[in-house]
Amino acid sequence: MSLNLILMGLPGAGKGTQAQYIVEKFNIPHISTGDMFREAISNETPMGLKAKEFTDKGNLVPDEVTNGIVKDRLGKDDTDSGYLLDGYPRTLDQANALGEMSDELDKPLDAVIYIDVDPNILTDRLTGRFICKKCGATYHKLYHMPKVEGTCDVCGGHEFFQREDDKPEAVKNRLDVNIKMNTPLISYYKERNLLYNVDGNKNIDDVWQEVDKVLSNL
Ligand code: ADP
Ligand code: AMP
Repeated sequence: MSLNLILMGLPGAGKGTQAQYIVEKFNIPHISTGDMFREAISNETPMGLKAKEFTDKGNLVPDEVTNGIVKDRLGKDDTDSGYLLDGYPRTLDQANALGEMSDELDKPLDAVIYIDVDPNILTDRLTGRFICKKCGATYHKLYHMPKVEGTCDVCGGHEFFQREDDKPEAVKNRLDVNIKMNTPLISYYKERNLLYNVDGNKNIDDVWQEVDKVLSNL
C-alpha cells in the first residue's frame, strides 16, 4: 500500500517539523521544494542561480521551473511506495501540474494535510527558527530548543544556521505572497475531498498527535 501526501501550510506553520515525524513513522521520502532549491543554490547549479533571484526576496520561483523539478523527483523509484510533498504545490498552476504528473506516473494523491495556523504568529515562528547544518533538523529559540544546548537532538551536530529568508526583512513579503495563494489552493483540494485540516496553533507534540490520527485513519 502506498501513501501519497501533501503537507500544506503557510511558511512557519510547522510543515518541516511534522514532516520529520511522518517520514519516520510511514517511511516515505520527504520532498521539500524549498530544500531542493536551497541545495541547488548552495551547489550553484544553473537552476539554483535562477531560483536564488526569487527565493532571496521571498517570491515564488516560476511554476515551470518548480513543476519540472517535482516531476523529475516523483519519477524516481523511491516514491513507488509513497511520498510526502512539503511546500508544493503553492499555486493553482502547480496543483494542476501535480494532478497531471501524478496521473501519468500512476501515483495519485491520497490526502492533503493542511496545518492551519493564525498568520499573526508566523513572523515569530520564522524569525526564531534555526537549523542544524549537518542534518537539517529544525529548532526554535523559544518553542523547540535542542535537549542539550548547542547539540542537535537528531545527529549530535554542533553547528546551526538561520535561513537568509527568515531574516525579518524577507519574512513580510514571503508571508504576503503565500497568504494570497493559499485560499484558492485550499478550495481546490476541498472540492476534491482530499483536504484534512489540522490545528497547527498547538504545541509540536499535540499537532503531531492530530496529524498521526488523520494519517492512521486514511
Ligand atoms: P515550515 O516548514 O512550515 O516553514 P517549520 O516546521 O520549519 O515550518 O517550523 C517553523 C518554526 O516554528 C521552527 O523554528 C519550528 O521549530 C517552530 N515550530 C514548528 N511547529 C511549531 C509548533 N506547533 N509550535 C511552536 N513552534 C513550532
Ligand atoms: P520553503 O522552504 O518552503 O519556505 O521555501 C523557500 C523558498 O523556496 C520560497 O520562499 C520560494 O521562493 C521557493 N519555493 C519553495 N517551494 C516553492 C514552490 N512550490 N513554488 C515556488 N517557489 C517555491
